Amino acid sequence: MSINCGDQAFENVRKLIYSACDRMNISETCRLRLGECERELTVHFPVKMDDGTVKVFTGFRVVHSDTRGPSKGGIRYHPDVNLDEVRALAALMTLKTAVANLPYGGAKGAVICNPKVLSQGELERLTRRYTAEITIMIGPGSDIPAPDVGTNPQIMAWMMDTYSMGIGHSELAITTGKPIEIGGSKGRFEATGRSCTISALLAAKHLGIDIKGATVVVQGCGNVGAVSASLLAKEGCRVLAISDTKGGIYNPKGLDIEGVLAKKQETGSVTNFKEAEPITNDELLGLQCDILIPAALENQIVESNASSVKAKIIIEGANGPITPEADRVLVDKNIFTVPDILANTGGVVISYLEWVQCLQSFFWDEAEVNDYLKKIMTSAFAEILGISQKEQVDMRTAACMLALGRLATAMATRGIFP
Ligand code: NAD
Repeated sequence: MSINCGDQAFENVRKLIYSACDRMNISETCRLRLGECERELTVHFPVKMDDGTVKVFTGFRVVHSDTRGPSKGGIRYHPDVNLDEVRALAALMTLKTAVANLPYGGAKGAVICNPKVLSQGELERLTRRYTAEITIMIGPGSDIPAPDVGTNPQIMAWMMDTYSMGIGHSELAITTGKPIEIGGSKGRFEATGRSCTISALLAAKHLGIDIKGATVVVQGCGNVGAVSASLLAKEGCRVLAISDTKGGIYNPKGLDIEGVLAKKQETGSVTNFKEAEPITNDELLGLQCDILIPAALENQIVESNASSVKAKIIIEGANGPITPEADRVLVDKNIFTVPDILANTGGVVISYLEWVQCLQSFFWDEAEVNDYLKKIMTSAFAEILGISQKEQVDMRTAACMLALGRLATAMATRGIFP
């Protein structure tokens, strides 16, 4: 969903929820409940640093809703993250799990830190202490963390181990996105890029664009962007440009994507790949192409650069890459946007499968997992497209309406305790 920096982020998601509620005649009770986060925890905790000093870090865990099941959402390690952003991301998770019809609610967590400057030892101690601090909220049947920006499978492994030590036995289902060796699911690493790719294929088919030879531009070359670029290249697309924090590269004939990814792996940046021209991130977003995938961070397409976007389709790989003001410009330009709560839902879908596999101690092969993801994406895309055509709304509003319908029914059916 489109969210803004600072303390506008949650307000923007709230506005989106309210505007979809208004279109659907959703009850005032449901509207009021979804307009707030159910539970919020802020923790300040000490970590011993390698140089012998002690630093105090701040972290959060926020549950937006657990109406449809245990809450689910990633943990972000980033120097600029704040409570408002975590609330917004938690609310998006509620919508996302409802869009995919998973028996989950939405949550998010974060620690204000720069993981790039921490040693492995510092990162492990920070993760273990943060996990201990939020243990009062998380649990395999209540709230299940996963990786997000700045965290990875190793961090999920440390969280799982710390939680398990506290309860006296191994609890694999406490986190998802873990390494395969300790209960991770096959297909989880590629899941989000795969759901972006499936979304791109479905959107292209809907618009009558031949995917073979379709041109693609990707902002961000991390987990989501790199996998999307690689899978779309395998589908026959021509990936014209890709970027990371150091800048972007462009080749009108199409980049050798596997070569670019190898260079990124070897040197840390795509900008060291030489068979391409350098390009700025702003130029990249304005390139003529069939499919644009913003897969870096939020607020990349804003009011000032939205009018220069020339893509026919936008696949929101990142959470909230388009601000609400920019979104209006893109809708007016008739650009077909597949919103984050549908496009990047692959991560949470495969996380759900990982959780189910850990709970039943029975693991599936990669083909089964990928088939399940394709089935969920295809059905959610069709349902949302149907709502968008019937109600004459864009795909973002339609996705939100699908989610809110499910949430409202669940709330009404459960009733209010006591
Ligand atoms: P990541 O840290 O692996 O990758 C982010 C990439 O974006 C990096 O290559 C970084 O260099 C680049 N980047 C950052 N700022 C940039 C900028 N201003 N311009 C260009 N490139 C920039 O993170 P990720 O896991 O790929 O997540 C990316 C986005 O996708 C986030 O919004 C995240 O919340 C969302 N998301 C991720 C998952 C998942 O499973 N990983 C699931 C759902 C949503």
